[in-house]
This record gives sequence, C-alpha cells and structure tokens, in this order.
Amino acid sequence: MATTLFKDFQFEAAHHLPNVPEGHKCGRLHGHSFMVRIEVTGEVDAHTGWVMDFAELKAAFKPIWQRLDHYNLNDIPGLENPTSEVLAAWIWQQLKPQLPELSAVMVKETCTAGCVYKG
Ligand SMILES: [Zn+2]
Repeated sequence: MATTLFKDFQFEAAHHLPNVPEGHKCGRLHGHSFMVRIEVTGEVDAHTGWVMDFAELKAAFKPIWQRLDHYNLNDIPGLENPTSEVLAAWIWQQLKPQLPELSAVMVKETCTAGCVYKG
C-alpha cells in the first residue's frame, strides 16, 4: 500500500516578480520566510517499517536548500520570474533525478498562501 511521507524545510530569500502589472507590490524587491514541503510516495518496507529514512530526504534536498537560503531568487538561473509556482516546479526538476519517489513539492511564501506541484 502506497504511503506518502513529507518533510518541511524553511529558508529566507528575497525576490521580486518582474512580470506583474506596473505598481503591483510584488514588483518591488522584498523577502519571505519560504516553507517547502517535499513529499515522497512509496511502499512501506516490511522490515524497516518506513517508506524512506527522513535523513535521506533531508540529504537530497540540502544542496538545493543551500542554493536558495539567503539569496535573491531572481539571480538563480531558471528563477528569473520566481513565483511560488515557478519555484515549486524548479525544485521538482532539481530534486526528481536524486529522489525518484518524489510525488509533490509544496511552496508557501506566507502562512496562508502557497502552491503544490506534482510533476
Ligand atoms: Zn513575494
């Protein structure tokens, strides 16, 4: 039976959205405490009793986290227009080769707003 496991990560970063209408507040440089939830889906191993070691999930995301934390997202190739939607898909593209069990990437840029990308 497939089970989904998730781990939440947090990072601070600056961004602005270059394609919003003139005068839109998101066009100005500002920062967020981003939350990223990485989900993996797989079978629960009969011996270990888990889908995956959380440490393995954390290790797979770490190099991506290091590229994001305390950076201006607009400076990162592929994130020239760093909306939550674009960021979630970008994280998926970086992570999927290392983590084939990846089933969703959630990005929240505030406590109440975010998006989910499922490939
Ligand atoms: Zn923003």
